[in-house]
Amino acid sequence: MKNPEAIKQHLELCRKLGVKYVSLSTVGETLPIPVSPIPTVEALTPPAQASAPPIFSAKGGPNWLTNSAETIQAMELIAFDKDICECQKCPLGKTRKNFVFGMGNPQAEVMFIGEAPGADEDEQGLPFVGKAGQLLTKIIESTNTWKRKDVFIANVLKCRPPGNRTPLPEEVEQCRPYLEEQIRVIKPKFIMALGASAAQALLKTKDSVGKLRNKWHYFEGVPLRVTYHPAALLRFDGYKKDVWEDMKEMKAKYLEKTKN
Ligand code: URA
Repeated sequence: MKNPEAIKQHLELCRKLGVKYVSLSTVGETLPIPVSPIPTVEALTPPAQASAPPIFSAKGGPNWLTNSAETIQAMELIAFDKDICECQKCPLGKTRKNFVFGMGNPQAEVMFIGEAPGADEDEQGLPFVGKAGQLLTKIIESTNTWKRKDVFIANVLKCRPPGNRTPLPEEVEQCRPYLEEQIRVIKPKFIMALGASAAQALLKTKDSVGKLRNKWHYFEGVPLRVTYHPAALLRFDGYKKDVWEDMKEMKAKYLEKTKN
């Protein structure tokens, strides 16, 4: 079964049947339904990302996976990455060095969504690995609730806009379905939108971060909070307190929801 869409449908069926984990090498033998063998992770790993240096490496998975490569979600994400990593739907496909799919735990309870890869991310094929990314890691871990490897980090755009300019509306239109599909596969309990591009793309609004903060929104039923982008914090220290408040609010709701 080489077709990523067929793999996805197959995994979706497995999930409906109550299967939580699949073996990469023996799926055909272990699942309760007749299946063809699923390709190995190596076969599914896109060449564009093969050269990127691993930050966290999950056993047997691509370098953007930070948890088991054998969960249904991981397999679906790997297949989805394979399906879209050579995208040429907009001109950014011609100028990128690497397609930046996202990174983290395929079963993350929390997703952080940024705008688009910058130079470092384009170079490494991984999201939020530059200065803003280091700050994001500190923000996540300062909650004493999540480690960076526990969450899933992605962007609205998967390719770097030249000179890090703001994404164009038509680029967002082309790329947003990829992010939406990632959210549907991962099924997080919470989403944090980092900055205006992420918030506006997910909520289909033109409102500013200032207007969207301090309230709960929903993306397809998933509670979503909006905060300032870490790059904005690097430019203006005054946003730190607000970001801290936003993280505290999300942590409180998360603890409330997961305590039972
Ligand atoms: N800014 C973003 O929005 N995303 C990244 O991955 C890096 C910087």
